[in-house]
Amino acid sequence: DVVVRFPGPGAGPLGLRRRSVQAVNGVSLQVRRGETIGIVGESGSGKSTLGRALLGLEPISGGHVLLDGLAVSDGRRADLKALRRRTAMVFQDPANSLNPRLTVGETLAEVLRVHGKAPRGGTDPRVAELLAMVGLDPALASRRPAALSGGQCQRVGIARALAVEPSLVIADECVAALDVSIQGQVINLFLDLKERIGLTLIFIAHDLAVVRRLCDRVAVMYLGRIVEEGPTESVFRAPRHPYTAALIASIPEIDPNIALPLAPMGGEPPSPLDPPPGCPFHPRCTYAEDRCRTGPAPALRRADDHGWACILEPGTLPAPVREPPTSP
Ligand code: SF4
Ligand code: MG
Repeated sequence: DVVVRFPGPGAGPLGLRRRSVQAVNGVSLQVRRGETIGIVGESGSGKSTLGRALLGLEPISGGHVLLDGLAVSDGRRADLKALRRRTAMVFQDPANSLNPRLTVGETLAEVLRVHGKAPRGGTDPRVAELLAMVGLDPALASRRPAALSGGQCQRVGIARALAVEPSLVIADECVAALDVSIQGQVINLFLDLKERIGLTLIFIAHDLAVVRRLCDRVAVMYLGRIVEEGPTESVFRAPRHPYTAALIASIPEIDPNIALPLAPMGGEPPSPLDPPPGCPFHPRCTYAEDRCRTGPAPALRRADDHGWACILEPGTLPAPVREPPTSP
């Protein structure tokens, strides 16, 4: 039930209350050990804010974050030490997330040292191990980020995340800045790490084809809420929320012979400053009824391990949708 609220832009004139933005609006999400869960949604849906809040990088205004069953955040303060020791983030921009003045080896050794996993001074053999783990030549340890390609930088970013042996890694749009072929390599690396070390990963992305390839489960966010969540194949083959169905229908076509059963979604997401009443998706929903406009926002219901926040019953969407294009 995590809530993240930001003060609204600009303080109003005296006497007027400054409206706050509910960036994350009562989100509940369970990530099982060894599982990769994708969080998808348009920009402004709150997916990055949720990821940052889970790592204590954004103060949460309500709800709890539990890690291995222990509360690391109770809605007022986070146990930042516990979070930093057991979680790690992989960022979008691989080059800018590395210190340009440190060699790759120094960057990794620093993380190992800060987390008490390395002796002071001397070369840490774990640096070479980490580089090998992400498929990089250990000889790259002496290079600085400027001497690496974007894909190599992102592998170093992943190695740095793994250095703390985290219970949970959160990757926020971590392949969005990479060339398509390099994207494929990084996705393969994650798949491999899942297999080899049981990596637990929250993968925030807007590229649904990548998410389908990598993730065991998918959560779809809209205006700060999870509107659908379930096993990847179940969500992609038979989406239960019209927003999810529209997102899937918007995956670029590869085979022009496959008909799109769903009208593409129109309009822009509403401003989180001024969310619509009723179901937050109703202004863009082709299934909207009167009760969607006036009633409370539908709560997430679950059946067969697949949740959806819509008044429609599963199966009433024109499903199944077509296969997405295959990823690089
Ligand atoms: Fe559309 Fe109504 Fe479902 Fe919201 S509750 S997604 S408006 S059908
Ligand atoms: Mg984002």
